[in-house]
Amino acid sequence: MKKILVLNSGSSSLKFQLFLDEESVASGLVEQIGEKISNAQLKFADKKIEKKEELKNHEEALKIVSLMLKEAGFLNEFSELNAVGHRVVHGGEDFIKATKIDNSNIEKLESISSLAPLHNPANIAGIKTILNLAPNVINVAVFDTAFHQTMPEYAYRYAIADEFYTKDSIRRYGFHGTSHEYVSQKAAEFLGVKQLNAISAHLGNGASISAIKDGKCVDTSMGLTPLEGLIMGTRCGDIDGGALFFMARKHNLSIDELDKICNKKSGMLALCGANDMRDIEDNMQKGDEKSKLAFEMFCYRITKYIGSYLAVTPASALIFTAGIGENDNLVREKVCENLSHLGFEIDKEKNNIRSKEIRNIATSNSKYAILVIPTNEELSIAKQTMAFC
Ligand code: ADP
Repeated sequence: MKKILVLNSGSSSLKFQLFLDEESVASGLVEQIGEKISNAQLKFADKKIEKKEELKNHEEALKIVSLMLKEAGFLNEFSELNAVGHRVVHGGEDFIKATKIDNSNIEKLESISSLAPLHNPANIAGIKTILNLAPNVINVAVFDTAFHQTMPEYAYRYAIADEFYTKDSIRRYGFHGTSHEYVSQKAAEFLGVKQLNAISAHLGNGASISAIKDGKCVDTSMGLTPLEGLIMGTRCGDIDGGALFFMARKHNLSIDELDKICNKKSGMLALCGANDMRDIEDNMQKGDEKSKLAFEMFCYRITKYIGSYLAVTPASALIFTAGIGENDNLVREKVCENLSHLGFEIDKEKNNIRSKEIRNIATSNSKYAILVIPTNEELSIAKQTMAFC
């Protein structure tokens, strides 16, 4: 039996899951790393272990994780693991698939950190810590961008001067790749096809949509950064670059201020004061016009992307996944209603059933399958990591 730890290291937090082969047996998180009091938590079966103490850095945080896993009886030390699978946000153009990371290529990985300065350094800190604490354990980086590396150049290039691409690597990369790949493989199994043609909509707090042709990504809505594309919880998604120049000049905003506005203070939050779809729908029920408009805009943007991706793929299925995609029947209904003239027909009864199972919620008359597929990025990372053991 293989013991795989899946790690998602953020700048001040760390999420983890322990897998015994493909079974997740424990999960937890450490928060407020670097602050006076950090919180660590491990959940397994119906039990919970909690610790509160000062954890200065990722190394101290991981030592607590190791201690909690020991207390729970899973392992005595990290060296008993077969491998650690690390979620790494950006792989640039060099890392096009899950990759074993060791002293021979960690510098190459570090060299692309400038593309994701808020995320990659923290992800790499997790890798370095494991290399340090348990040198015998295999480290595998699984990249959010990797699945999208099959996009053709005409889809991933921006229409700006060549050197911005050749020297600065500015192009569309796309994110949520582990999720888009996982649900598209599940969809292929479910539909019994070898080569899937589909559109996958990962709708969570962050949201993106991908066009999949013969099982490979041919376009996706996020770009150089996760800001582009759909309207999200706190990100604006597509916006005229000129509007940003206008805002900056009008309000004398710095680049950092503009960055914060677009990434943290826009999207659904800016439109209606809430970024959780459950709150937004409660407010719609109470008659709040701003929430109704925000909901309409959210679904309209998704509809437009689906329309444009239908133009570039012979898709026969639409996949909904992530927090909103899996749970929000109103969003699914609205998007499919918007697309009804193209032959999408949702079965409202099936759509309203809550389930953790993969399901097709289209009517038998629908031209397209409409699938709800729970994503599982951790399991996908664990499986890709296991392939190296
Ligand atoms: P992320 O991983 O990007 O934080 P998730 O995939 O966990 O996002 O999705 C989070 C979002 O899912 C929440 O902001 C909420 O809007 C939405 N969500 C979760 N459960 C429900 C539900 N039952 N109904 C509607 N929306 C839901």
